[in-house]
Amino acid sequence: DPPAEKYEYQAEVSRLMDLIVNSLYSNKEVFLRELVSNASDALDKLRFLSVMDSGLLKDGVELDIRVQTDKDNGVITITDTGIGMTREELVDCLGTIAQSGTAKFFKALKDSKDAGSDNNLIGQFGVGFYSAFLVADRVVVSTKSPRSDKQYVWEAEANASTYTVREETDPEKLIPRGTRLTLYLKHDDKGFAHPERIQRLLKNYSQFVSFPIYTWEEKGFTKEVEVDEDPAEAKKEGDDGKDEKKKKTKTVVEKYWDWELTNETKPIWLRNPKEVTTEEYNEFYKKTFNEYLDPLGSSHFTTEGEVEFRSILYVPAISPMGREDITNPKTKNIRLYVKRVFISDDFDGELFPRYLSFVKGVVDSNDLPLNVSREILQESRIVRIMRKRLVRKAFDMILGIAMSENREDYEKFWENFGKNLKLGCIEDRENHKRIAPLLRFFSSQSEEEMISLDEYVENMKPEQKDIYYIAADSLTSAKNTPFLEKLLEKDYEVLYLVDPIDEVAIQSLKSYKEKNFVDISKEDLDLGARDEEKEKAVKQEFGRSCDWIKKRLGDKVASVQISNRLSTSPCVLVSGKFGWSANMERLMKAQTV
Ligand code: ADP
Ligand code: MG
Repeated sequence: DPPAEKYEYQAEVSRLMDLIVNSLYSNKEVFLRELVSNASDALDKLRFLSVMDSGLLKDGVELDIRVQTDKDNGVITITDTGIGMTREELVDCLGTIAQSGTAKFFKALKDSKDAGSDNNLIGQFGVGFYSAFLVADRVVVSTKSPRSDKQYVWEAEANASTYTVREETDPEKLIPRGTRLTLYLKHDDKGFAHPERIQRLLKNYSQFVSFPIYTWEEKGFTKEVEVDEDPAEAKKEGDDGKDEKKKKTKTVVEKYWDWELTNETKPIWLRNPKEVTTEEYNEFYKKTFNEYLDPLGSSHFTTEGEVEFRSILYVPAISPMGREDITNPKTKNIRLYVKRVFISDDFDGELFPRYLSFVKGVVDSNDLPLNVSREILQESRIVRIMRKRLVRKAFDMILGIAMSENREDYEKFWENFGKNLKLGCIEDRENHKRIAPLLRFFSSQSEEEMISLDEYVENMKPEQKDIYYIAADSLTSAKNTPFLEKLLEKDYEVLYLVDPIDEVAIQSLKSYKEKNFVDISKEDLDLGARDEEKEKAVKQEFGRSCDWIKKRLGDKVASVQISNRLSTSPCVLVSGKFGWSANMERLMKAQTV
């Protein structure tokens, strides 16, 4: 036999294993979820690649997952018929951390400075393959890639810093394709090796895996067997001499072991929305996207007509770490399926504009080719139509949250994704009508709670034509600006734009419900109802003072004018009609420094 080769884990792997074993001990059962999800990923990969290369498949080898338990010896085997691993992949995938889930976990771990929160954190992430060591002393991975003609065995003990890889030579252990994991359970964890326990966990964790999961269980059926009657009994009953040998039947239970289908494999998005409960939608979301908070909202729909597809979309209720850049379009937030086959979750704005990239969900289309490539996606008319529909549905969903009884939900939404919608004002003119009603701002009449533009418009005075706003770097400076004086006197509400992006967003909108947005710090602010006589008189009286001030200030100001906009302050600095507002100027300065 070729000898087993010994390898050292990458340092991070050892650290991760340590962490997992020491932080997750109270939640050991996650091992099953992780290992089954890896099996499911491996099957997805195979199914995807086989679209282009049908040689990867084999007659009679179904795509499925089988979990077998041996309670006497405390052993669990999890077998999939997925893509398997070559020798190199074994070393790469199971000896180093280059893989998505775990890498993400490490990044989050680094980000959370507070070491005390590790325990909470670890539960939110897929901790991956190494969670096998939560329950196992020894793990053996035997795997056969359809791209290799040999089967390899990876083997390691818990708490070791090395593992071995060798070729599988035992003909009894050869598998046609895929991966077989054998877990030799720790003494205290042997209880996991019961079919009922495994089935319960699988039902809980893996109901949304789209491949059949079978468990090996003992079954029984009853049958009637004929038994010869006890001769003594026979005598007692019929003693009339004509005793043919009487036959009697007896019911016995015949025991045997067989595979039992344990999960529902019909994807949730193919079910009738009327028959799916909110809990099921939320569970699906959490399992699929590795989330631990319920989403703020969801939307399940089918579109017909020109392009047909089914989809479930979600608005996340962000995690405590505040997440990475939420406008990064390269999230793995949308999972695209074609005819139920998982195609990709690697998009760059093809299905949603970047400002909506926080939306998560699945999309299943029958109209795209199975071998759809990135180029096809980008060029496809079908995809463009899908995108349009998806964006609309996403807005409907967000509006649903905004209109719900529970004000807190939308506040949460706004806190997390308000910036995204403002970015949408700037980047997506086509959807201004959908975005504007979702915006929220503080105002001179609502300094504690944000208001919508609809609320603003409703609160407008009968003679008021415009929507007024002031951009400032904080609520305090907005409240104290002298520009407000005249407006407050007239009891006009003024929006406080205190987020740096607010002003640009509002300027992109230009108007709402045919009312223009007007910056109260600009020179041409016209509050109507002017007393022209009085203005003339004042101009005469102070005209020369203005000239004098302008002379003294020179280039520092563009002009010095009499104004009717103040009531108690003696003067105010305003921006030119076509110039930058003070707020904007501050922003530009901040960017160039
Ligand atoms: P992740 O699943 O997030 O990538 P894991 O630690 O769960 O991280 O798995 C690491 C890698 O090991 C996977 O990305 C995959 O390449 C490989 N792997 C694990 N289990 C299997 C399996 N059953 N079949 C094929 N490859 C697997
Ligand atoms: Mg995994």
